[in-house]
Amino acid sequence: MPKPIVRSIGLIASLVLFVHWAAPTAQAQTRNLNIYWIDVEGGAATLIVSPSGESLLVDAGWEVGDRDAKRIFATAQRAGLARIDYFILSHFHADHAGGLPALARLIPIAKCFDRGDFIEPANQKWRDGYLSVCGNKRTIVKAGDKIPLKGLQVDIVASDGRLITQPIVSNGGGQPNPLCATAENKPKDVPENQLMVGALLTYGKFTFLDLADLDWEKEMELACPVNKVGQVTIWQTGRHGALDGAGAPGFLYAIRPQVVIANNGPRKGLGGPSPGSEKARTIHYERIANTPGIEGIWQGHLSLLDKEHNTAESMIANLEDTADCQGHFIQASVEQSGRYTITNSRNGFSQTYAARGSSIAAQSPADSRTDAAFHAVSYVEAMASASPKAIAALKQYRDASRTRDGFVRFDIFEQIGRPGHFAIVETWRDQAAFDARGTTIQKQLSDAIASIRVSDYDQRPYKTLAVGPAPPSGNSRAISVISHVDVNQDPKVPVMLRRLAEASRQETGNLRFDVLQHTMRANHFTIVETWRDQQAFDAHVAAAHTRQYRDDVQPLTGSPLDERVYKAIE
Ligand SMILES: [Zn+2]
Repeated sequence: MPKPIVRSIGLIASLVLFVHWAAPTAQAQTRNLNIYWIDVEGGAATLIVSPSGESLLVDAGWEVGDRDAKRIFATAQRAGLARIDYFILSHFHADHAGGLPALARLIPIAKCFDRGDFIEPANQKWRDGYLSVCGNKRTIVKAGDKIPLKGLQVDIVASDGRLITQPIVSNGGGQPNPLCATAENKPKDVPENQLMVGALLTYGKFTFLDLADLDWEKEMELACPVNKVGQVTIWQTGRHGALDGAGAPGFLYAIRPQVVIANNGPRKGLGGPSPGSEKARTIHYERIANTPGIEGIWQGHLSLLDKEHNTAESMIANLEDTADCQGHFIQASVEQSGRYTITNSRNGFSQTYAARGSSIAAQSPADSRTDAAFHAVSYVEAMASASPKAIAALKQYRDASRTRDGFVRFDIFEQIGRPGHFAIVETWRDQAAFDARGTTIQKQLSDAIASIRVSDYDQRPYKTLAVGPAPPSGNSRAISVISHVDVNQDPKVPVMLRRLAEASRQETGNLRFDVLQHTMRANHFTIVETWRDQQAFDAHVAAAHTRQYRDDVQPLTGSPLDERVYKAIE
């Protein structure tokens, strides 16, 4: 009886497919992203090993015999690497470029990236050393370029004195930075410290910013008037923690790192003076410790220059002066979910953190409480033939809103297949900011659409239940779904919705999954989803967590699930 057997195999195959959708994270968690801050005594050498197995080394430490080259090689071996796939040289200084020629004799380096050909005469030696290794395999990068490291997104945000002109929207970049108005500025540093290659690495919710020795003035340019990179999970201290010349508060408190790693030396960087002064002008450690939301500070070395201001000894990789130093490293091991563990190789001490991602509300540096954000969700219908006119009026309303204090974001959606049917989702820092934005802009909108609308402008107030990262714009195949959940009062429902949001954001095709709760009716929710394309949305509908949610929520709903499909209007 061959027929039934074939059928049952078919059934098993579809069950397997079903399980695959249910557990995408469990599968991919077999391999983590690993980052090693190799101790090079106040130089820089950061080794990144992607879950794909490909590797990227940023900087190669000092020359000093072959000390740093050997330390990097030992770490690469420990990570199981037979070669370095990509090498970025941030700039042509001894503490970043010095170890490269010796390293290249120990392990093959496949491709190199640098900032270009201009140098000050004093740095000729480091440029020559770099070209001896990379001359025939180098690429000059520009801000806005990406390094093709498989499994990770690596955005070049600074190179050769230029910074990105387009913010990293996928990380919440592009928001106005209110700190700029009062932040301290400083004059330019030496040219080499302005020309830095700086990179932002992204792995899901986890981000790592390495700007090497980029100076204070350029940091401010990156963060003002809008914060172009968004908030980050880990920041490698600028200038090895010598924060008289980097770590500008207007920049640092806008990028709000959750964890800071200082790649300092015993007598260099953190706590150390800038050239030309006796001692540090400010307490560098304190500046870092004052970062809003900071959860951990790790150091490559105990600062012997300012012994009073160091992190907990367990979080310092090396305690000795250089002569006795064994070169212990700090490692971050990052899961696909955004959970990551930092380990001190000296004592095995570790801490686990959960990357926060670029939560919309948290993007507003003036307000650290994510639950204070206010959302207005509005609906209006215009005559189909007047759709372009309505879009123009809505865009004008959006542009005017952007200029108001406390503005966070504004999305206009038009229903697919029903031109003239719009949904507008606004996010403000808090209800006070929304109320204070003035009635003029709203009146301009209602005047502009008065003659073409066929419904009232129906606006509803919401607070945040679960809001994730802002989606990237410019994807014309993306579809958005806005749905309403009206349930009988039940404390289980917010928990279920949060769980659904978490699980849905893990799906590969998800760009946005926000759950908003009515400010006055706690049993009324609006869900705003964006999916990469129709196929991604279909897969979501079929996913186990979606079915589970529907099964759970169905008995509780006072009315059927109302779900409409939209296109975002850019
Ligand atoms: Zn340096």
